This record gives sequence, C-alpha cells and structure tokens, in this order.
Amino acid sequence: MTASKPHAILLTSPGMGHIIPMVELGKRLLAHHSFHVTIFVVTTDSATTTSQILQQTSNLSSLNIVHVPPIDVSNKLPPNPPLEIRINLTMLESLPFLRSSLTSINNFPPPSALIVDLFGLQALPMARDLGMLTYVYFATTAWFSAVTVYFSDTDKKIMERHAESREPLSIPGCTPLRFEDTLESFLSPGGAMYEGYHAAAKEIVAADGILMNTWQDLEPTATKALTEDGILGRLTKGEVYAVGPLVRGVEKKLEGGKKGWVLQWLDEQPAESVVYMSLGSGGTMSGNQMREVALGLELSQQRFIWVVRPPCEGDASGAFFDVASGGDAEMSYLPEGFLKRTEGVGVVVHMWAPQAEILEHPATGGFVTHCGWNSVLESVENGVPMVAWPLYAEQKMNAFMLSEELGVAVRVAEEGGGVVGREQVAKVVRRVMVDKEGVGMRKKVKELKLSGEKALCMFGSSHHSLSKMRKECEVHLQASDAKLPP
Ligand code: UDP
Repeated sequence: MTASKPHAILLTSPGMGHIIPMVELGKRLLAHHSFHVTIFVVTTDSATTTSQILQQTSNLSSLNIVHVPPIDVSNKLPPNPPLEIRINLTMLESLPFLRSSLTSINNFPPPSALIVDLFGLQALPMARDLGMLTYVYFATTAWFSAVTVYFSDTDKKIMERHAESREPLSIPGCTPLRFEDTLESFLSPGGAMYEGYHAAAKEIVAADGILMNTWQDLEPTATKALTEDGILGRLTKGEVYAVGPLVRGVEKKLEGGKKGWVLQWLDEQPAESVVYMSLGSGGTMSGNQMREVALGLELSQQRFIWVVRPPCEGDASGAFFDVASGGDAEMSYLPEGFLKRTEGVGVVVHMWAPQAEILEHPATGGFVTHCGWNSVLESVENGVPMVAWPLYAEQKMNAFMLSEELGVAVRVAEEGGGVVGREQVAKVVRRVMVDKEGVGMRKKVKELKLSGEKALCMFGSSHHSLSKMRKECEVHLQASDAKLPP
C-alpha cells in the first residue's frame, strides 16, 4: 500500500507524567505536521483510572489511542523495587502485544516511525526489525538530554571523581552539573542504577533521532551543544530536535462543561492571590514534612490550593502508580484543626486536581512545584512564578535552571534532619506571592511564555524542528514504498 502520510507510533510508559507529554506530542504531529498517529499507552494495573483522567483532561477524539492490556509485574519484582525497575519490567512485558499490534495494523498506513519515552527503549530493536525509524522523546530539558548523551560515552573515572570528590560534572558546551543537583544514578558508578542508565544512554544515542520538550530560546546553549557538530552533536547517530513547549492546555470542551468546586472557589478569589501546591502525579512527603507544609501555608497568610496524598515515609515517588485512587479521603494525617482554621483561605484537594485549569486561572499567582517538567511548562505557559521543591529524577537540575539561570523560581533550601520547617515554607511562599522579588519573577516568566509561543508558531524554531523530522519520515516512507513489489 502506498501511503502519502507517515504513520508515527508513540509508545508511552506508565505514569501520568509520561503519558501527558506523549499525548501532546501526538496531537502536535497530527494537527500541525500531517502525520497519522497511533499512541500505545502502557499502564500497570487499572487502565480505567488512567483513561478516565486522560478523558477528563485532554480532547482525544482525533487521536488513535490503544490501551495495552494492564500489566501486573508485582510477582516478578524484589520487595520495594526502585520506580525505574518496575516501569522497565512493565515495558518489557508489553512488547509482545506491541509487536503483534504493529504487524497487524490494517486500517492505517504501515507504521513508519516509533517514538518512545525514556522507559520505552526496549522497543527500539523491534522497530528496527520492522523497518521503522526510531526516535527517543525526552519530555524534559535539553540540559538533561545533554547530560545523558555525554554520559553515553564518558569514562567511568570522570564519573567516579564527580561522585567521590563531589566535583561538578563538566558537560561540553553546557552548564556543569553540580554535585548537589546530580542524578541518583550517578552516585554509585558501577552500581545497578548507574549501569542501567549507561545502557539506556547508549540506546538513546543510537536512535535515528532525539526529540526534546524544550525550545531553542529557553536553552540556547544546551540546544546548540546537541544540534551542532561539536562533541555532543557527534555522539548522537541522528538529529536532535527541540520541539516544545508541548503543554496540555485547558481544552475547549472542558471550558464549556460544568466547573468543579475548586475552580468555582478560585472564581471568587482576587487576581494572582492564590498559591497552588502540588507534587506532580506521584510525589509524596513524610508525615512530618506534611505537617510543616500545612503550618507553613497557614503562617504565610496566603490563599492556597494544596493537593495532598497520604504521607509516605522514605519514598518521594510513593503515589506514582495510583495517582487518583485510594488513600485516606478524610485526610486525618493533616495537623489537628488545620482544615477548620484555614476554611475560606485555602482548599485542600485529595490526590488529584485539575492542574492545567488551576494554573490557567487568573486568581492563581504562584506554584509550589516538585519541578516535574510538565508542571514547569504548565506554569510557564500561564506566566506563573514558582517555588522549586525538587524531589526525584532530574528535578534538582530543573530547580537549578529555574532559580539560578532563568530567575522564575525561588528554591527551597534543604534543612538538617531532611524536613523543611514551616518558617521556610512561609518565607518562600511570601517571596513569590508578596515580595518585590516575586514581581520580577512574574515579569520574567511571562516573557518565557511569549518565547515558547513564538517557538511553536509557523516560523518558530520548534515548528521548524518537527517539520524537519517529518521530512525524514517522508523520505523513509518513500524509500520503503520503492522496495515493495509493484
Ligand atoms: N497533574 C494534574 N493534577 C494533579 C497532579 C498532576 O493534572 O493533581 C498533571 C500535571 O498537570 C502534569 C502531570 O500531571 O501534566 C505531572 O507531570 P510532571 O512532569 O509535572 O511530574 P511527574 O508526575 O512526572 O513527576
């Protein structure tokens, strides 16, 4: 069958923070670059929760979404496995379904490209077997992508120096990575996490292309280092494309629908007067930390919306797999009398809030975020300055960039005993919401918002990048068609 449009297959790993940016990429490829798009969504247990949230938050009518039957790997894992191990195993188990689906697609043109996130790398050899182009999508910064590309070919001795002497890691053409902000995998060179990440980095640089959810003007140096013919540029087999900011906006459909109680409450608040606090799709805190946050919000004397999850000791990503279910809906873990004392001033939301709508609302004036990249982009997209409270993955790097380089966030400082006290919580909130410093940050973040919009418009850098990638797929498609018997 001769096809005029390339057909991109997008494979997303479990977790709303992975699914949302992949869906946004799919929408962009379909609406602005004339691709056929099929998205395979892998979930761990109840696909219903994921698909319900997806339906509530995104207009998916135009996308072809395939839910891979839920995969339960719990009996194949050691006790308390790291998040990455669980996701990787789940992705591995999804491969047979993916292969049989890809070989039997008949209502669309044959797939010409596979785009995976950082946990979908195991699917790349299969895509090559099936004659598809392979792309890896970093739903995050160019800086983190640069660190990963550099790591693919870095001498272990250099990494040991970084881990042991706590020296910054120099990344060619980019801001060095301070030890304080480094990745967990880099802490023990030679350990399982280190080796796993190293193998992943090798797979990534061997792909036909790399996409990143950032834009040239936001990260000019890291983008340049990756796209030009320098040390990093030469490490990747294919081109590196900055294609963002791809951000979930407020859907028209939802705007017309009935508003939930949180948004109704926001409607009654003055402009830019409410601070929103949320730790992404799976972030959790210890009981002590939650208590200090509650008392700190109270002390700040600011209006607030706080998304809470039951405390989780020692695991900052504790709710990653059950974003919207379970937990103690009575929120009995909050300090006694807190809900009563803050009535009218603040609202506490259990487990999951309509974040895109909250950040877009004119009453929202600040965002205390764990610095997951989707949250950061949603904040930028709405011109909302941030308090950066990084928890895991590359979030410390994001926090550094937002506070030290871009000047759009105040960073929470670590305190002895690992618990940030209520005084600091109140102080950082007031710095963004009340102090003069906050006015400057608000101005800067609004400038970033405009620069992101520019990148996506018809002649913008990100639009141009995806057009180039589209061209690559088109050429590949024509070459495959030419090989078919007449
Ligand atoms: N999100 C939401 N409501 C919540 C928590 C999260 O809609 O209560 C969405 C948020 O808008 C973002 C995504 O979930 O699009 C979280 O992604 P992010 O990269 O910020 O963090 P992760 O969950 O990957 O740690």
